[in-house]
Amino acid sequence: MNSFPIFLEMEGRDVLVVGGTHIAANKVRLLAKTPARVVIVAEGLDPAFREFEDLPNICFNYRPFEAGDVLGKALVYAATDDDAMDTEVCRAAKAAGVPVNVVDKPDLCQFTTPAIVDRAPLTVAISSSGQAPTLARKVRAAIDELLPSRLGTLAAIAGGFRNRAKALIPDTARRRRFWDRVFAPSKVSELLALEATRIPAALESLARGEAGAGRVILVGAGPGDPDLLTLKAHRALSEADVIVYDRLVGDEILDYARRDAERIYVGKSRGDHTLSQDEISALLIERARAGEIVVRLKGGDPFVFGRAGEEIEALRRAGVALDIVPGVTAAAACAATSHIPLTHREFASAVTFVTGQLKAAHPQDWRGLAGDGRTLAIYMGLAQAEGISDGLIADGLDPLTPVAVIENGSRAEERRVFATLKSLPEVVREHRVESPAMIIVGEVAALAKDWPTELSDTEFNPLAVAAE
Ligand code: SAH
Repeated sequence: MNSFPIFLEMEGRDVLVVGGTHIAANKVRLLAKTPARVVIVAEGLDPAFREFEDLPNICFNYRPFEAGDVLGKALVYAATDDDAMDTEVCRAAKAAGVPVNVVDKPDLCQFTTPAIVDRAPLTVAISSSGQAPTLARKVRAAIDELLPSRLGTLAAIAGGFRNRAKALIPDTARRRRFWDRVFAPSKVSELLALEATRIPAALESLARGEAGAGRVILVGAGPGDPDLLTLKAHRALSEADVIVYDRLVGDEILDYARRDAERIYVGKSRGDHTLSQDEISALLIERARAGEIVVRLKGGDPFVFGRAGEEIEALRRAGVALDIVPGVTAAAACAATSHIPLTHREFASAVTFVTGQLKAAHPQDWRGLAGDGRTLAIYMGLAQAEGISDGLIADGLDPLTPVAVIENGSRAEERRVFATLKSLPEVVREHRVESPAMIIVGEVAALAKDWPTELSDTEFNPLAVAAE
């Protein structure tokens, strides 16, 4: 970096332009945008100078250059069309210690004028250090196209709002986050769509929102397929400062999070609790109290075997604001991908969501849970396949009752295997079914789109029953 970019404060400064050529006029045009006083020394003027005639901060001197002209100036430009004269201006400026630019003569320049994108107060300056001016111009054009024309207006209004923002949000980190939000591309277009006079009020309401306490959004991430995220879940993910997530939430879903959101994995698969439930609740409370938007992301629906109850209670006790976004629960997702209607006018008038195991890994009591016309959707049942089979048969269920087991429902690696209640443990073992898997017990399981004909022919087939 042979040239060092800086921005010069021009208020109260004088700039000398020597020469009345067309290119000298171009420099004057740029300088006239600043509050500096522009002193022109020239014996004759190109007609292009006419546009500056009435400008108050431009002062014309129709006479030859004198070395003393450079004294007290912040900058000197020369564009005289006369090599000897240019050199003389350069020498005088150097002697007086005033930075000089002789237009189009790099050897005589102590500084260069960059290609400029002007969205004052936002200014972008581009330089190729004189090596590739065309490249610099192309970069300028690209950036020019990128920046909305009214961005300067927004920047100026934002500047005027700085003190107010400081008063509303005294905390520095929060204030930085507020400005981050204001200048997020989607917010910029939203603000620019407003009339300029309405922008301060919009900033005010954003700042008040930011100043408010943080909150927790308990979000159901669905069964794994990101297309099954709700729009609300999607919005929460894109707003989050922190995302606290479980094992059941896949990377594909985390990809929807705000890029700079912090992600905290808290484990929670069987026997692998990275943080205890109390520690998770404490973490949510601490982050929300620090003013952050905390998304607590859980697989499926947070209220279906999601242990949400415990976290809600802790948040409520701590007085932390909470929103809840439901998700597609595994039973619904697995039923959909397998084409198993969980209820059916013919075969099932009730569906029960049940967990295969209770607190401290105690097995479920299967008595009275299933029967004719009832569907069981069993979560976390894999390790209990034997107990489910025995328990339900002992309760009087037909050993030939259809069972569907859906592993990784809705994900790319989804696998479905089918069994009867009697053969369930064996089928799970034989096919090495792994968690997460959903076990659907009941006549409707045989309506699965790929229910195997062997099972239909030899065992229970509700379609055949319906046809009778
Ligand atoms: N809150 C979640 C359930 C959490 S309990 C929900 O509403 O879906 C975890 C159990 O859910 C797993 O053991 C498994 O039985 C089931 N499960 C979760 N995701 C699943 C998936 N993609 N396919 C099949 N079963 C799933």
